[in-house]
Amino acid sequence: MSKIGATTRSCRILLVASLQLALLGSCSSSDPPAPTTGETVGELPASPALRLTGGGTTRVVLLGTGTPNAHPDRGGPALAVVVDGVAYLVDAGPGVVRNAASAAREHGLVALVADRLGHVFLTHLHSDHSTGLADLILGPWVLGRTDPLVVVGPSGTGQLTRHLSAAYAQDVEIRRDGLEPANSTGYETDVREIEGDEVLAYEDQRVRVTAFRVPHGGWTNAYGYRFETADRTVVVSGDTGPAPELMARMCTGCDLLIHEVYARAGWERREPRWQAYHASFHTSGPELGRIAAAAQPGLLVLNHQLLWGATPEQLLAEVAGQWDGPIAYGNDLDVY
Ligand SMILES: [Zn+2]
Ligand SMILES: [Zn+2]
Repeated sequence: MSKIGATTRSCRILLVASLQLALLGSCSSSDPPAPTTGETVGELPASPALRLTGGGTTRVVLLGTGTPNAHPDRGGPALAVVVDGVAYLVDAGPGVVRNAASAAREHGLVALVADRLGHVFLTHLHSDHSTGLADLILGPWVLGRTDPLVVVGPSGTGQLTRHLSAAYAQDVEIRRDGLEPANSTGYETDVREIEGDEVLAYEDQRVRVTAFRVPHGGWTNAYGYRFETADRTVVVSGDTGPAPELMARMCTGCDLLIHEVYARAGWERREPRWQAYHASFHTSGPELGRIAAAAQPGLLVLNHQLLWGATPEQLLAEVAGQWDGPIAYGNDLDVY
């Protein structure tokens, strides 16, 4: 086993029996929801007494709203939930570290400076959502991060991370043991695999993160995430087919629902085999409108948009035709 493999830690998060208790709690006050029940393993601080003590400065920054298409203005899927100066990333699409740097500069968000990037939650292991993971493991370390990167994700995340680390073993050895003054800890990873349908995936003083399994075609293990902080509740769908009841339950009282979507107008021009794929793996504009009508978020943010020649205005109209609440068309570096 390589030095990298030997220093990569992993643990598994077991099923939390029910999210219901958590959802009965307030979504936006410092009074924490009732504790979840069940078993967790590893280093998760699952103390029922833990309180969200943040100061109420939660922001969501879209770092990449793209898809597998190499759109010049849209980075690979990634966003950041920034809570009291700490960034919790969702997904690591290509460009994640540089887009974080762009957001840091544009919005003055120090939490998104490279060496501060310390947590990532992978929704699933589709390559467009994860090919930036190697950069997220190594780039911030080279720039000074000393803590291991916390990687929360579905089954297979540990394997992916171990192989990435092994692939870069020479790089680590030369930087760590050569003349470069690189530290000897920041390239490590702390992997926490999700197991179950609704799981308390992570918790600290600033944020409580629930992972929930979503239907993403052939992916058995694909997840969305619900972030609860002292001042806001944010739900990120990940890649998913339409799941109105699930999203309504996860978004109970949520401030932001950030949801993937494709334009039905463009989809209708696709060939049948691609239509079948997208109808199984993703959510159309009208379907998303009906989801929002069921979930009633404070703001719906369109993300991971697939247009295929349709216009953003057409996609917005598809959604708005089913829901008259506030909608934002997400673009890279937008802040909510
Ligand atoms: Zn995707
Ligand atoms: Zn996907």
